[in-house]
Amino acid sequence: EVRLMGGGDREEDIWQYSLRPKYFNEYIGQREAKDNLNIYIQAAKQRGEALDHVLLYGPPGLGKTTLAGIIANELGVNFRITSGPAIEKAGDLAAILTNLDEHDVLFIDEIHRLSRSVEEVLYSAMEDYALDIIIGKGPSARSVRIDLPKFTLVGATTRAGALAAPLRDRFGIVSRLEYYKQDELEFIVTRAAEILNIGIETAGASEIARRSRGTPRIANRLLKRVRDFAQVVGNGVITADIADEALKRLHVDKMGLDRIDRRVLKCIIDKYDGGPVGIETIAAAVSEERDTIEDVYEPYLMQLGFLGRTPRGRVATKLAYDHLGISQTGK
Ligand code: ADP
Repeated sequence: EVRLMGGGDREEDIWQYSLRPKYFNEYIGQREAKDNLNIYIQAAKQRGEALDHVLLYGPPGLGKTTLAGIIANELGVNFRITSGPAIEKAGDLAAILTNLDEHDVLFIDEIHRLSRSVEEVLYSAMEDYALDIIIGKGPSARSVRIDLPKFTLVGATTRAGALAAPLRDRFGIVSRLEYYKQDELEFIVTRAAEILNIGIETAGASEIARRSRGTPRIANRLLKRVRDFAQVVGNGVITADIADEALKRLHVDKMGLDRIDRRVLKCIIDKYDGGPVGIETIAAAVSEERDTIEDVYEPYLMQLGFLGRTPRGRVATKLAYDHLGISQTGK
């Protein structure tokens, strides 16, 4: 089964990387985040200082990593990438930090998954640009302070709420990325098609954009799948019909929902009479991780107005019933 959501594998990372905008002027949408960051970057450059630490949050695939890279490029500094789960020990983080150059950007993806001990080292690094290391054991142990270059930490997370408050408070700039609009996604698809040398009609790009759940990474993925289809079944050019046919085969419906989205909604409607039902129960019923449901599926279903959150759990809305063609009688 083709996974349309969630993280990609290595091979995919490589070609998505080739589509990655390098400067603000290529980065579509996210006006507010972009405009603010642009000002902070100019200001930091004028003062000859490191940019304040930046926290980017929002669902996967909206362009957090891309934006972090752009921040480094616009600052004219090195860009170092790592992730919360990849930094296992405090020493790993210390090694990364001591190898940075002045004003470099260090990007930590999934920063909410840092271990407690690593997180604590990060506090003084962010605040004082210093590491406090304990040398020796027992009575002879002493603490040594190592100065670090003034760097910018860009952290990314799917939910700002998943971050410990002391960590969240150390970010001077906090930006939330939004789902992309139809015309922005159309532009992204068209641009990607150009880069990948894929023939596509405007209506074809529009169909892919409409079904990409507001997410550039998914738009790019769908484009690639539809291209294969256009090549084998059509004459190589992506038309609206070709896109529609291909996306149907991928079980991506008119609103961009996939089988798991529909399973989530159906579970709430069929088994729990529309809800409310707890997230754990839903996750178990559709055999997905709770985090995946909360980070990937739920935000989009809520954005569409298909799903509501109440203190007692999730509810399916009338729009969800309508979309699935289920009548709400008896409710
Ligand atoms: P995230 O880090 O939020 O999961 P990424 O930065 O990896 O998302 O973005 C996934 C892909 O989507 C990128 O490789 C890039 O090709 C594309 N993309 C993301 N944001 C934009 C944008 N604003 N304009 C054009 N393409 C984008």
